[in-house]
Amino acid sequence: MPRSGAARPASRSPRRPGEDLTGVPRDGGRLLEGGPIAAEIRQAVGEDVAAYVDRRGKPPVLAVVICGRDAPSMVYLRQILRSCEKVGIEGRLVEVDGEAAETSVVETIAGLNDDPAVNGIIVQMPLPPTIRLRTIVDAIDPAKDIDGIHPLNAGLLRLGYDGFLPATAHAAVEILRRSDIEIAGKDALVIGRSAVVGMPAAFLLVKEDATVTVAHSRTQDLPGKIGRADIVVVAAGRPGLVTGDMLKKADVVVDVGINVVVGHIRGDVDFESARRVASAITPVPGGVGPLTNALLLTHLVRAAERQAAVH
Ligand code: NAP
Repeated sequence: MPRSGAARPASRSPRRPGEDLTGVPRDGGRLLEGGPIAAEIRQAVGEDVAAYVDRRGKPPVLAVVICGRDAPSMVYLRQILRSCEKVGIEGRLVEVDGEAAETSVVETIAGLNDDPAVNGIIVQMPLPPTIRLRTIVDAIDPAKDIDGIHPLNAGLLRLGYDGFLPATAHAAVEILRRSDIEIAGKDALVIGRSAVVGMPAAFLLVKEDATVTVAHSRTQDLPGKIGRADIVVVAAGRPGLVTGDMLKKADVVVDVGINVVVGHIRGDVDFESARRVASAITPVPGGVGPLTNALLLTHLVRAAERQAAVH
């Protein structure tokens, strides 16, 4: 198994408990930072990629398909390409005209599916309104679907089998595992039920033996449900939805939200009030985000190794 895919010991921060990003002691929960964990993962991916290149004589290849130039997702995709470059993965940007018909996007993906040099494919989201998500998702070869969006991979996750995981949901749970947060036996609340974040995070928490509740926009008494949970994973896309007064002292909070609020990136949790109460909390930015990116690279290496094993 590639080193980067293996379970690793928790990342050790040089800061002591009770210190914040600047090392200044403060009252409040432990900060679960994604950066140091992501760096550890990238280091292991770099070693796996070097070993792959030694064996195969070429680097693994990630194709990033973009349809039109949606600014926020371009930033995210460029970050992924930069991360690829740092660890020796070849990243290919495949641009399809934003005005292009759905069929040409599908044809582009089919070409990448058939290209043995390409090991993984991700597609820019959100898609232009003229292109149906379902058509694009169905077009990706599940063996190259390293962000786990194809129904086959979603089904494997649902059954507890070993498919490709959506990287953000994977990161939301992996940050807990690698920070030595106990999940088994805990009551977890996932706020958000999307196919790409909320539901896969919920299934992963079940796999880790948590008892999971999934909340959404029609959920009654959200504060009551937050109050009963030990672990709260928030993926609603609503800045400040969860506040400190809803939490208990022992709560662990994972904030998946990425929202731009008056020019600043904010999560779905009101960080200032929540960190005074929670026992541990992920910051935004700097929590789940960096881990998402690093885990995607581990998925790509795994895809490349699997494809090499069958060819
Ligand atoms: P989405 O598809 O819009 O889904 C949002 C979910 O939240 C829906 O299930 C919705 O309920 C629920 N919701 C909305 N308002 C709510 C409320 N007031 N109370 C309870 N539930 C509520 O969003 P997504 O793609 O899952 O993304 C969620 C968040 O994660 C966004 O902020 C996004 O930017 C962020 N994200 C982060 C990363 C990362 O790397 N950290 C990656 C991807 C996405 P209904 O189903 O009833 O509508």
